[in-house]
Amino acid sequence: APAQEGPAISHRVSAKGKNVPPHADTFEAMKANGLPQRLISNLEDFGYKHPTSVQAYGVPILLAGRDLVAISPTGTGKTLAYLLPLFAKLGSPAASSIVDVGVGVRAVIIVPTRELAHQIHNECLKLAQGRKWKMVLFSKATANTLSQKGARDKVDIIISTPLRLVAALQEGILELNNVRHLVLDEADRLLDTEFLSQLQEIVASCTHSSLQKALFSATLPAGAEKLAMEMVNDPIRIVVGLKDT
Ligand code: ADP
Ligand code: MG
Repeated sequence: APAQEGPAISHRVSAKGKNVPPHADTFEAMKANGLPQRLISNLEDFGYKHPTSVQAYGVPILLAGRDLVAISPTGTGKTLAYLLPLFAKLGSPAASSIVDVGVGVRAVIIVPTRELAHQIHNECLKLAQGRKWKMVLFSKATANTLSQKGARDKVDIIISTPLRLVAALQEGILELNNVRHLVLDEADRLLDTEFLSQLQEIVASCTHSSLQKALFSATLPAGAEKLAMEMVNDPIRIVVGLKDT
């Protein structure tokens, strides 16, 4: 069910870090941060009237190119908080871009389960409306397709579980050296011992000098928080509290 949430002020939000960009209370206001009108129009089509708190704070931070650790409860719209800046920053699909965007995948979204990867892939498709973004839900089958020469250079966004992506890296099917945006969603689970070494291998493979990292989670226990803060560079950390706490 959609989040029945009003403007950003309905939540208690803390934002910590150097030079935190001001939050934006409306999608319209995010234009000043570089959110394109066509994305705002898509949101209107969805019937979304206001950004949720994590979006109001998170979108300007990510559009400013900063690393982010965002903690916000389940159902508060974390997916759009990273997808909006991602689509804005990617500009245009690699396959049709007139500017040189380099060779290979530019954005990677890591999630702990296949089911979640599916959901996010669907959100990407909704948001991409009519534009030829190549968004790959990573699986054995897609990995095989990408192993064909040239295919992977036209991919804009990969959505994957850690295991699947690491397998592709180890098989040499994929390189992540042109990745500019790395998102870890449900980071508390990704930073758990089950996934940690795979995650570290993925992060180490993202060697581009202007790599932006964003971690999103509903909760972040102290141990995971420490690992998260070690992964990011000059980060801003936002915590969205529940309305009645
Ligand atoms: P989270 O990842 O924080 O658990 P989701 O990104 O899955 O939350 O979003 C929860 C629901 O809220 C989804 O159905 C989503 O489409 C909807 N949603 C997201 N942003 C908004 C918004 N600004 N206004 C209304 N509904 C929204
Ligand atoms: Mg989520």
